[in-house]
Amino acid sequence: MNAPTAAALSALNSLPVTQRQPVLFLGHGSPMNAIEDNDFHRSWQTLGAQFGTKYPKPRLILCISAHWITRGWYLTAMAQPKTIHDFGGFPQALFDQQYPAPGDPVAAREISQLLRQPPTQSPVGLDVSEWGLDHGSWAVLKPMFPQADIPVIQLSMDYDRPPAEHFALGQQLQALRDRGVLIVGSGNTVHNLRTMQRSASDDQAYDWTIEFDQFTADHISHGRLAALVDFQALGQVARMAHPTYEHYLPLLYAAGAVTDTDRPEFFNAKYQGGSIAMRSVIWN
Ligand code: ZN
Repeated sequence: MNAPTAAALSALNSLPVTQRQPVLFLGHGSPMNAIEDNDFHRSWQTLGAQFGTKYPKPRLILCISAHWITRGWYLTAMAQPKTIHDFGGFPQALFDQQYPAPGDPVAAREISQLLRQPPTQSPVGLDVSEWGLDHGSWAVLKPMFPQADIPVIQLSMDYDRPPAEHFALGQQLQALRDRGVLIVGSGNTVHNLRTMQRSASDDQAYDWTIEFDQFTADHISHGRLAALVDFQALGQVARMAHPTYEHYLPLLYAAGAVTDTDRPEFFNAKYQGGSIAMRSVIWN
């Protein structure tokens, strides 16, 4: 892996050494999970309440959302990231949601120097005006941390780059866990909107949904995290599970940030509409 240099680590002045944070991969599914009182929403509330008790309270949240795709990689670096309602066809109540968590421009600048973009080794870029918090971030963070008092930075994904580079960038995030940073990958282990069946219950899914979700679960359970990169080897099952794979990539960042001593714990291993898998993981 690309281990950060001592100089890069010493530049993290605003992020002193802390107890190590866990790593999260959250299946976010329908945007309505942000406001509906369902099992997924309640699980996020329960999990969030465990920070400060079971897990240390984060100093900062770094979220890799399926919904921020850029050419090259960027970190949000504004003081007050706006809440982005990047969806259509949902009730007004969802558009009324705000998540006023602050950003952290100083930490963003320091982290941008720590993270090297895999193809060029240049620092990750800073975005001070374009993005904010998209629903991949706020829909899960609002139930988890309703007080919005923990700063949030988003890291974008360059979809044109191969999966292995996303995993490699995830490996570079490891060091941040010892600086009070909670790494949150937000996507889905299976995500095919075209084949969704509104009538499906949360334990009904297509065979290929189950097969691909199980592929991720098997590799995660056995600690074969680098093998998650080769998901396209599943051929047609992978193409059905992810016609486009922006919802899969956040899993590679979270998996990359895992260390040898972490153990995975699954939750929300259910489905939405038969073709979205909500399986979520905490490594600690
Ligand atoms: Zn999504």
